[in-house]
Amino acid sequence: MSKNKTQLEVNPNLSPDPVGIRGHHFLCMQGFQGYGYNQDFALHMQKVVDFIIKNPPCKLELLTECDELCSHCPHREGEICSKDPNAEENIKKMDLLVLEKLDIQEGSKIQARKIFEHVNNIFKTREDVMEVCGNCLWRDKCLWFMGKPF
Ligand code: SF4
Ligand code: SF4
Repeated sequence: MSKNKTQLEVNPNLSPDPVGIRGHHFLCMQGFQGYGYNQDFALHMQKVVDFIIKNPPCKLELLTECDELCSHCPHREGEICSKDPNAEENIKKMDLLVLEKLDIQEGSKIQARKIFEHVNNIFKTREDVMEVCGNCLWRDKCLWFMGKPF
């Protein structure tokens, strides 16, 4: 099983460790309020978010490729994102930008509590996040984005 195909269970005793998460999803998970590309995607994302909230010491692996959240996305085709013709390239760029701003190497495995603290120390204002979130269609539904002060 590849590192980004792990199946999450809410029971911490069954937790995969680490869970693979692509860079920009460290932002998106914090703004999630139930919306998604379809019901399966949204339910799975809720499960992942709940799991991480309940298990802050769990380790997350930083990826720039399809991850645990993508695993239930209707836009995933094999190991790539096919949301639109340029999605794979553009979304990977978003992930790389996030990792660059965090100054963390792809493949690093970090405790969830620490990585989210770090993310929120780096991305503090609306200006900080615009480079990553500027073209996102979910901005008006993303609590994390909406909560960033100007
Ligand atoms: S605005 Fe979009 S890209 Fe930015 S954190 Fe929210 S969902 Fe993710
Ligand atoms: S749209 Fe692409 S990057 Fe976003 S969750 Fe779906 S497959 Fe993953």
